Amino acid sequence: MTFHDFNFEARLIEGIDALGYETATPIQEQAIPAILSGKDLIGSAQTGTGKTAAFLLPIIQKIITTPHDDAIKALVIVPTRELAQQIDQHMEGLSYFTPVSSIPVYGGTDGASFSRERQALSNGADMVICTPGRMIAHLNMGYVNLSSLRYLILDEADRMLDMGFYDDILKIMSYVPPERQTLCFTATMPKDMRELARKILKNPVEINIAPSKPAENILQMAYVVYDTQKIPLVQYLLKDLKLRSILIFCSTKSSTKALSAALKKLGLNAQEIHSDLDQSEREKVLNKFRSKELNILVATDI
Ligand code: AMP
Repeated sequence: MTFHDFNFEARLIEGIDALGYETATPIQEQAIPAILSGKDLIGSAQTGTGKTAAFLLPIIQKIITTPHDDAIKALVIVPTRELAQQIDQHMEGLSYFTPVSSIPVYGGTDGASFSRERQALSNGADMVICTPGRMIAHLNMGYVNLSSLRYLILDEADRMLDMGFYDDILKIMSYVPPERQTLCFTATMPKDMRELARKILKNPVEINIAPSKPAENILQMAYVVYDTQKIPLVQYLLKDLKLRSILIFCSTKSSTKALSAALKKLGLNAQEIHSDLDQSEREKVLNKFRSKELNILVATDI
């Protein structure tokens, strides 16, 4: 299926072409027609399936085909600043040839970023992409008007619940009109997720996309070890490897710190990233990893 099959406006197709997308992914094939027809949706899909474009494209199409005003029409709520940034960049690419505007609202601890976001939210934008806590901080100040909101999207909703954002999400809900289209994306469907879905979605279309298999040439291995053996094992595995980019995920901030310190001790070029770093530090580390100045990045799942 190509993107011409959805009858998208030519200026939206231009953005899709510029990103080099030729055919729709399975989740895009299923979600785009459902979203265009105005239905609520719950999608089980993981990152890598093309789910971001699956909701951005039909929302952009709907916004460009209705008369323009300054109201906030779409709100995307995500668990982390990195995901907000990533979706905002994706949005910029896809909407490049259209007049649809979007702003990311995820903070940074300095006052300047708060007042920049405040200004942007007061002026209005078609789409706001936010983390829950930061959005509530702005809503509490009284200058954000969500009364014209038509599209609400929760991305990685199960992760937001894991991170304890249940009440924050319901609080944001209290500011948005009941007459709206709601889309919810989640990789898993635990009990609290089902409960949230029941509360916020009306007769949703359900879409399940199996996670894609790793490519043929990827070697996957698992080692069963005790906690105290983990750091020595990673040190042993990495000692003689001359790879330029290694990404290691740990479940906690303290384990990223401990592992990164242990790798540095071996003379390896490693650094950690987790939510104790401020936004500019996080971006600095990511940029170093991207430019291959840093070889080993030890990360929590931010
Ligand atoms: P996502 O699952 O939304 O994080 O997307 C994973 C990656 O797939 C991103 O780098 C997208 O730019 C890319 N992508 C999304 N849709 C398509 C498509 N139809 N064709 C090729 N790449 C795509």
